[in-house]
Amino acid sequence: MTVNVEPDKTGQEFPWQSLPAAQQPEWPDPEALRKSLADLASYPPLVFAGECDQLRTRLAAVARGEAFLLQGGDCAEAFDGVSADQIRNKLKTLLQMAVVLTYAASVPVVKIGRIAGQYSKPRSKSTETRDGVTLPVYRGDSVNGFAFTEEARRPDPERLKRMYNASASTLNLVRAFTTGGYADLRQVHAWNQDFVRNSPSGQRYERLAKEIDSALSFMNACGVDPEEFRTVEFYASHEALVLDYETALTRTDSRTGRLYDVSGHMVWIGERTRQLDHAHIEFASRISNPIGVKLGPTTSVDEALTLIDRLDPEREPGRLTFITRMGAGKVRDRLPELVEKVTASGAMPVWICDPMHGNTYEAETGHKTRRFDDVLDEVKGFFEVHRGLGTHPGGIHVELTGDDVTECVGGGDEVFEDDLHQRYETACDPRLNRSQSLDLAFLVAEMYRGQ
Ligand code: PEP
Ligand code: MN
Repeated sequence: MTVNVEPDKTGQEFPWQSLPAAQQPEWPDPEALRKSLADLASYPPLVFAGECDQLRTRLAAVARGEAFLLQGGDCAEAFDGVSADQIRNKLKTLLQMAVVLTYAASVPVVKIGRIAGQYSKPRSKSTETRDGVTLPVYRGDSVNGFAFTEEARRPDPERLKRMYNASASTLNLVRAFTTGGYADLRQVHAWNQDFVRNSPSGQRYERLAKEIDSALSFMNACGVDPEEFRTVEFYASHEALVLDYETALTRTDSRTGRLYDVSGHMVWIGERTRQLDHAHIEFASRISNPIGVKLGPTTSVDEALTLIDRLDPEREPGRLTFITRMGAGKVRDRLPELVEKVTASGAMPVWICDPMHGNTYEAETGHKTRRFDDVLDEVKGFFEVHRGLGTHPGGIHVELTGDDVTECVGGGDEVFEDDLHQRYETACDPRLNRSQSLDLAFLVAEMYRGQ
């Protein structure tokens, strides 16, 4: 497949460019921005339109209840996290979770990383004040630096090119890991066996791990060794936040004449930028990638229905994913009406649960954190609601890392609030660590099975 690369993508030529856009950086040097965007518009695509279409067909299966979606990764990727070890650990964790879910759910698990592009963050305030000094807020490595200095916090459009390069090298390694033999199903299962053997929480899952082991031994004895055991289909996604970047990477597919954002397979619009008459939704309506939209607890039925009209007018399963993030205390109350009315309208979006963003609180130590039990309870509520309505609980969207950080409290290998300072490494929101992520996968697997 070929993709036309038109060098003039930085002009005001797309309809969304004349609309207001929330959460955009204030670049101090417009000429430097123009140059960066012109360079980006000349770079090759990071993903192909055909891959985005393939993901749409996979998501259509999720919408119909024939597959489950696992989407996860950092809240904010960082340039200094682009290392073989960190990428491998994240991928390994996601693949381990996926194997457990595949077995328990007995349906294919569509695997999508918050990876290779998740460098931009919406913020509640545009400035940050410490000890009487006020500076621009950190908006992600794509925009400015995390350090609290004037120099670091100055938005620098060169960073957009660094984001592209960081995304390209991450995706390259992800593609190598997932197709080059490293992600062999038997290998991933062996890692899960290690987890079950070595971690205190792991022992609870011995039975499930043994069942998977027997299934694999049986297939092995039968001489079954399909290609699907050796390679993994894995997709990249991020929040489409900085529209100048996404626009520079929006290209016309020469096969079909349609627009694709070639910065990632799937992009989503966040809770803070989904205003119906603003640029982000207009942008999402024009590109042909699978689209996600976050829905928080204040989402009205009208908003959800209008989002469907704008983003999925053809009601094409797989095109639109609603990522609900209500909070454990609200999901049972807020979600049913949305699901019921959307379903009654004839639309069939993918529904997935983000059990992270409605459950953030500040610990006494001052750390922004989340309780593992709240995360689990929101997923439980999400399953209950869908089960009650006869709709499909399509998947989960989680913030996680493959490293042993201490950012969320709880889990089988319990992290306490007093431990948070030990390895609190996130540049933005608290992530589940490796063991908490695997805990979640086993517990969600049991829930799915119990349906
Ligand atoms: C996020 O996914 O990191 C995020 C900011 O989420 P939301 O838009 O749901 O607040
Ligand atoms: Mn986040």
